[in-house]
Amino acid sequence: MGEVLEASDAPRGTRSSRAVVGEFSLGAQAVIVASGGIGGNHELVRRNWPLERLGPTPEFMVAGVPEHVDGLMLGAVAEAGGRVINPDRMWHYTEGLRNWNPVWANHGIRVLPGPSSLWLDPYGRRLPFPHLPGFDTLATLQHITRNRYPYTWFVLNRRVIKKEFALSGSEQNPDLTGRDVRGVLRRVVGGVQAPVQAFMDRGADFVVRPTLPELVRAMNALAGTDWLEPAVVEREVRDRDAQLANAFGKDAQLAAVRAARAYLGDRLVRVAKPHRLLDPAAGPLIAVRLNVLTRKTLGGLETDLQGRVLRQGGEPFPGLYAAGEVAGFGGGGMHGYRALEGTFLGGCVFSGRVAGRAAAAAVV
Ligand SMILES: Cc1cc2nc3c(=O)[nH]c(=O)nc-3n(C[C@H](O)[C@H](O)[C@H](O)COP(=O)(O)OP(=O)(O)OC[C@H]3O[C@@H](n4cnc5c(N)ncnc54)[C@H](O)[C@@H]3O)c2cc1C
Repeated sequence: MGEVLEASDAPRGTRSSRAVVGEFSLGAQAVIVASGGIGGNHELVRRNWPLERLGPTPEFMVAGVPEHVDGLMLGAVAEAGGRVINPDRMWHYTEGLRNWNPVWANHGIRVLPGPSSLWLDPYGRRLPFPHLPGFDTLATLQHITRNRYPYTWFVLNRRVIKKEFALSGSEQNPDLTGRDVRGVLRRVVGGVQAPVQAFMDRGADFVVRPTLPELVRAMNALAGTDWLEPAVVEREVRDRDAQLANAFGKDAQLAAVRAARAYLGDRLVRVAKPHRLLDPAAGPLIAVRLNVLTRKTLGGLETDLQGRVLRQGGEPFPGLYAAGEVAGFGGGGMHGYRALEGTFLGGCVFSGRVAGRAAAAAVV
């Protein structure tokens, strides 16, 4: 049995990406590259940004993946002759918060929002349909970046945040990662989740105020601009609230909220009962400034169905395999560019299995 080297086994700092590829060319019979995407390296993200599709890169973005997701190994394999395809296919989120307690530099946390928050542009105008919280991420990203919005806002209240804000990341969900059944049940019957409350208290992108005029003043102060006209924001909030009193209302967001509540699971833990945002009993009011958050890489090393890396000419690179994000989740985006959210990991695992089996068979 020959040697199978996995790049991700190499301790960081002891072997460079080039060293691993170099070692491969010096005699290892098979190398599987599994070094992840590029989302932690904003220089690479900017260089590969799809200007035509998304417009200019936002000036400020938060990093939704650690620094080791740096894409350097991808570059090293390309330099050695491997073919990179669809490098401009990336999946970034529109609801990134600056982490008050960062684990890595510029650490961004993604809000997994329920459908009720009012989503405003930097000038306080409601985003047009279908750009609703938790709907079509890539379409909303395109709307934001093409309009050159440096950020957007959610306006909500305590009743909504209690039920509808979940934060992505293992450290933000200690009840789930710690298998704490009582903690999970508190999501149904308890108050605001502790990690969300910590952001309300300490997060740099949060504003909590009892009244709308005070909220708008504080939003402008946070942004360091006077872009938000109190009258514009008030009109948007009151127009939305007025639709609640109308049994024949045509507000698409309220229709989506009601539709989501038809499912028992969402009604219990995910979607607040429709109510006026300005209802004092549901307050205080909350505004959250949302930044673009870099996360997933959908292009990468082109592979064949055995996970073998292809050369520029399309022929397999002998003994070199790739799996996971470095291969665009296995061969250039296993689930396509507009993949269903949350289904990326499956492609990583599956492509790892395919590449691992093929590499093992090749070195027997
Ligand atoms: C907070 C968060 C939430 C997510 N939620 C979901 C979700 O709900 N559903 C979903 O499908 N996906 C989700 N993802 C994405 C998913 O986790 C990734 O797509 C997946 O982990 C990628 O796996 P990978 O093995 O290809 O790369 P990674 O997990 O990034 O692993 C790459 C490894 O290679 C190492 N490495 C890199 N370069 C070198 C080098 N030169 N030498 C040695 N080692 C190196 C790194 O240290 C790292 O250990 C989430 C990601 C994050 C950060």
